[in-house]
Amino acid sequence: MPVLPRPRKRLGQHFLIDPNIVRKILKVAALNPEDVVFEIGPGRGALTHALCERVARVIAVEIDRLLVEYLAHTCAQRDVLELHHGDALAFPYDTLPTGTVVIANLPYYVSTPLVFRLLEERERIDRMVLMLQREVAERMIASPGSRDYGLLSVVTQYLTKPRKTFVVPASCFRPIPQVDSAVVCLTGRSARKPTDPGFDDVFMKVVRGAFAHRRKTLINSCREEGWEEPVLRRALEETNIDPRRRAETLAVKEFIALTHSVRSLGLLNVH
Ligand code: SAM
Repeated sequence: MPVLPRPRKRLGQHFLIDPNIVRKILKVAALNPEDVVFEIGPGRGALTHALCERVARVIAVEIDRLLVEYLAHTCAQRDVLELHHGDALAFPYDTLPTGTVVIANLPYYVSTPLVFRLLEERERIDRMVLMLQREVAERMIASPGSRDYGLLSVVTQYLTKPRKTFVVPASCFRPIPQVDSAVVCLTGRSARKPTDPGFDDVFMKVVRGAFAHRRKTLINSCREEGWEEPVLRRALEETNIDPRRRAETLAVKEFIALTHSVRSLGLLNVH
């Protein structure tokens, strides 16, 4: 039996020690026996063991080699588990079957890039149940005009229907983190599905341009990102959006309208 590796803070290792939270996560995930689950950062296996008992296949990717060795040993009898050593950001997502369920207690230091990466792979993911720093979860569900509303809110709400399910106190982990966590469940797209596959790319450019300089007005932020001002003004006029507004006041549906307008005006040559 390999020794239990010491937690490495650098890798965001705060291990779940409360079996009640594991049960609650499984309940939110509403798993079926035939499901395939992708787990990021199985760690010491708090969720992994429970998942292996409930679904047909668990694909897990862990960056810490010592934990992979530890898990390979403690999960040796779990033949539904496929354990990978590596960075979840670089995982070959095209190997996941369509309809995969993602379940993860994400490492804080890289949770936002991982969420964006998972959203890019949404075509093959049916739903995601993610434990995140509470503040990140709040940002995902925030409404326009609120302090937490930003790029992450718009992109998450455009591509999925996010639901914050419950808060997990810091005392449920070892070592104890400095902040609480929360579990969010992301299911199918809530905004209107575009008919053109290029739409999402333009949407992302518009949203990134608008939020690039948060303190500036929409028009100034986009201009600094290389958009041509006269055409941008026309797009804003067409969509009845005041150019003096800031990105954080725009609803997702206004970003969608702006994207349609930007496309119809051929404003695609941004740097
Ligand atoms: N799932 C376990 C639990 O709930 O107790 C561990 C969760 S811990 C918050 C995050 C885990 O992700 C750690 O095991 C850490 O080593 C792993 N990890 C950190 N960065 C990673 C990355 N880029 N790719 C894959 N795993 C990563």
